[in-house]
Amino acid sequence: MAAVVTAGLAVLALLAASWAPQAGAPNLALWLFAGFIVAGELYPLPVPRGEREGRITTSTTFAFALLLLAGTAAAAVVLAAASLLADLLGRKPWSKSLFNVGQLTLSVTAAGVTLLLLVGTPVAADPAPFRPAELPAIMLAAAVFFCCNVGLTGTVVALTEGLSLKQLLWRDLSFHASAAAVLLALSPVVVAAAERSLALVPLLVLPMVAVHRVASVYVERQRQALHDPLTGLPNRALFRDRVQQATLAAQRSGSRCAAMVIDLDRFKEVNDTLGHDAGDLVLREVAPRLRGVLRESDTVARTGGDEFGAVLWGVTDAAAARQVAGKMRAALQRPFDVQGLALDIDASIGIALFPDHGRDHRTLLTRADVAMYAAKRARVGYKMYAPEQEQRSPAKLALVGKLRRAVQDDQFVVHYQPQVRLETSQVNAVEALVRWRDPQRGLVAPDEFITVAEDVGLIEDLTRSVLRKSLQQCRQWRAAGLAIGVGVNVSAHSLQSLDLPDVLASLLVEEDTRPQDLALEITESAIMSDPERAKTVLTRLHDMGISLAIDDYGTGNTSLLYLARLPVQELKIDKSFVLDMVSDRPAALIVRSTIDLARNLGLRVVAEGVESKEQWERLADLGCDVAQGYYISRPLPGPELTIWLEASRPHSAHPGGSRLGPAG
Ligand code: C2E
Ligand code: CA
Ligand code: CA
Repeated sequence: MAAVVTAGLAVLALLAASWAPQAGAPNLALWLFAGFIVAGELYPLPVPRGEREGRITTSTTFAFALLLLAGTAAAAVVLAAASLLADLLGRKPWSKSLFNVGQLTLSVTAAGVTLLLLVGTPVAADPAPFRPAELPAIMLAAAVFFCCNVGLTGTVVALTEGLSLKQLLWRDLSFHASAAAVLLALSPVVVAAAERSLALVPLLVLPMVAVHRVASVYVERQRQALHDPLTGLPNRALFRDRVQQATLAAQRSGSRCAAMVIDLDRFKEVNDTLGHDAGDLVLREVAPRLRGVLRESDTVARTGGDEFGAVLWGVTDAAAARQVAGKMRAALQRPFDVQGLALDIDASIGIALFPDHGRDHRTLLTRADVAMYAAKRARVGYKMYAPEQEQRSPAKLALVGKLRRAVQDDQFVVHYQPQVRLETSQVNAVEALVRWRDPQRGLVAPDEFITVAEDVGLIEDLTRSVLRKSLQQCRQWRAAGLAIGVGVNVSAHSLQSLDLPDVLASLLVEEDTRPQDLALEITESAIMSDPERAKTVLTRLHDMGISLAIDDYGTGNTSLLYLARLPVQELKIDKSFVLDMVSDRPAALIVRSTIDLARNLGLRVVAEGVESKEQWERLADLGCDVAQGYYISRPLPGPELTIWLEASRPHSAHPGGSRLGPAG
C-alpha cells in the first residue's frame, strides 16, 4: 500500500505541476466531467464479496474520456480530487483514501503513457476531431487502465487478507471485465458527443445507470445465495469458502487457524414445544451472541438447522481456541428470552486446528464435526479434535456427513414386517425396520448406518423419528379397524439414556396412541453395557405399560435367568439359529431349549428368520408362540402392509382364523 501511495502521489505531483488548464471551452467540459466523476465515485459498483472495496465505478467512463479530451494530467488531477472527495464523504480511513488516489493516478498515467506511445501525441493536443484510426489504441489504453486498477487493488487485498492473488485476480477480473468493457467503450463516444455538444453528454449517463443496476442486482443475488436469510450470517457454502481462505492464509504465514462446529443442544425441544417462531427467535439471538465473542476478522456462519460454524484467524495455540470455545458456550448458556419465557439452551462445540488436525478445509471441518459429537456424547460443552474420537476411514467420515443431513432432512422411511401367531396364523404385531432413502443411492439398509449413527450421536434423533412414524402408522391401523401393535428397535445408546421414558411419554401423547400398542426391542448387549441403568429405564418403561422384548437372543451369553428377572415379556430368538434349525442339530437344540425355558419363565417366544414352511411347522411343533420372516412377509412400506393386513384379516366366513398373507 505504501508503495502505491508513494508512487501515485509522486506522479500526481509531477502531473499537477505540468498541468496548465487551457482557457475557454474545454473548461466547461472539464467541470461537467468532474461532476460526473464525483457522482460515479460516490456510487461504486459493488463487488461480489460485499465487504471489499470496489473501484470500478461509472466514473471510469468520464475519467477515461477526460484523458482522451484533456490529457493525462487533467484526468489524473480530477480523478484524484473526486476519489478523495467521495472517500471523505464516505468516511473512509485515510490510508484507504490515499491508496485509492495512488492507484487511480497510476492507472490513468499508465493508460496515458500507452496512448502516447501508440498515437504519438496526446489526444488532447490534437485539434482534429476524433479519428477512427485511433480507436484500437484507445481501446488498448482502456484495457491498461482496467488491468492496473484491478491489479493494484487486488494485490493489496490479497496481501492484507492472505488470499491467493491468482484466484482473487481471476475472480475480480472476470467479474469486472464485462462492466468495465461497457463503461470504457463509452468513453470515446462521450468524447465524440462532447466535441459535438456538451448537451449530449448527460444522455450517455443512461447506459451507465443501466450497467450499474445490472451489477447491483447481480451482486445482491450472489449475496443472497451465500447468506442465511434468517440470521443474515454466511451460509454453509460461504462458510466453507471462509475456512478455505483461513487455511490458505495460515499456510502462507506459517500460523494457525481454528474451525469450530457449534450445535445447539436443546433446540429441537424449543421448536417442537413452542413452535417454529420461537425457534427462529432463538436462532436469531444466537448470531449476535456468537459474534460478540469473536474478533472482527473471524467469521460466524449458520451451516444448518441448529448448527453454526466459526472460523478463527491467527489462533496462537490450542489453549487460545479452547478459551474462545468456552466463551461461546457461556454466551449460549445465558437464558434466551422468548415470548416471555427464559429458555435454557446449551451448545456442543467441536474444535479443529490448522495445521495440527487437518491441512485442508475439508478435513478440518469433518474433524471439527467429529469433535463436536465427542463433546455432545461426553456432555462437556466443547472438545478439541483428537484421533481417539474416531477410528474411521475417510469413506465413513463422508458417510457421517451424509447421515447428519439425512437426520436433519428426515430422509428415513419405516418398513413393517408382520409377526404371526403360529397357533392361529393371526397377525397381532409388526416390527418397525428403518430404511434410509439416500437421494443418491436409494434405499439403504439399517446395518449400513445404525452403528455409525450410534457412534456419532445421531441415533437418538433417528430413534425418535422411527418411533413417531411407527406410532402414526399404528394409529392409522387402529382407525382402520386393525388392532396391530408395533415393535421398535432401541439401540443400547438410547436405552442407556434416562430420557427415554420421558421422550416416549410425550410421543405417545402427541401421536395419540396407547402404550400397550408399543413394544420396544432391546438386545442383550444393550442391557449388559450397563445393567443397573438399563434396569432402571426398563422398569420405568414397563410401569408406563410399554411391553419389552429381548432381541437377537442367543448371540450373547447372558443367562436367560438373568434376563427373565427384568420386566420383559418377550424373547426373540436370533434368526441365525432359526435359519439353521432345519439343517443343523445344535441350532435345532438351542431353539428347542430356548423355547422350553422361556415359556417356563413366562415369556412369549418369537422366532425370527422364518423363511420356509418347514421351519414354520417345526416351530409350531416346538410350541413357539410367534413367527416372523420372509415366509410370512418381507418388511413392507406402511401402505403396502395395510393391504397385506386387510387381505389376511380373519373373516367370519372362515372360522379357524386367517390365512397367511399373500407372501410365502
Ligand atoms: P433385527 O432387529 O434383528 O431385525 C430383523 C432383521 O431381519 C431385519 O433386517 C429383517 O429385514 C431381517 N429379516 C426378517 N425376516 C427375515 C428372514 O426370513 N430371513 C432373513 N435372512 N432376514 C430376515 P433389517 O431390516 O436389515 O434390519 C437389520 C437390523 O438393523 C435390525 O436387526 C436392527 O438391529 C437394526 N434396525 C432396524 N431398524 C432399526 C431402528 O429403527 N432402530 C435401531 N436402533 N435399529 C434398527
Ligand atoms: Ca429387532
Ligand atoms: Ca433380531
